[in-house]
Amino acid sequence: MKRAIEKFHLDRFQEWVADLECGHVVTMRHNPPYQECKWIGTAKGRQAHIGDVQECVNCDMPVLPESLNLLEVSPVYKKGSIPEEFYLGYKTDLGRWAKIVVKKGLLQFVIHSEPAQGFVLDERLFGVLAPGVCHDIKPAMGDVEFYLEYYQ
Ligand SMILES: [Zn+2]
Repeated sequence: MKRAIEKFHLDRFQEWVADLECGHVVTMRHNPPYQECKWIGTAKGRQAHIGDVQECVNCDMPVLPESLNLLEVSPVYKKGSIPEEFYLGYKTDLGRWAKIVVKKGLLQFVIHSEPAQGFVLDERLFGVLAPGVCHDIKPAMGDVEFYLEYYQ
């Protein structure tokens, strides 16, 4: 979904991120040809790009229906205890939704819809698994801790 940039700030890795109107953030890395934003390094450059429109993948995350009830909560998974099916393509049981909550680190989350959509989940962004859809869930880098909440 297209969202306008409201402002910029440096994240904890000292990289510039754009704060979008929706509340999500996008890392602005000058990395041609994937991302062209040489201007990000100067205050003047950043000022000139307030209001620009960015693709916000986070806004494309499915939304849990409000009428659901929490059924169960999984154990906390870490590197080494992540079920193999999460890597191979995971589907929830029939009619069940799930929410992935990251406690620590970064988790790669791919929804095999048409077209497939990839997200990097962290403490601020949780993942949503819709029933009947295949998902890949794996560590993005380093240590990660996360759990799933199942809803019906
Ligand atoms: Zn957004």
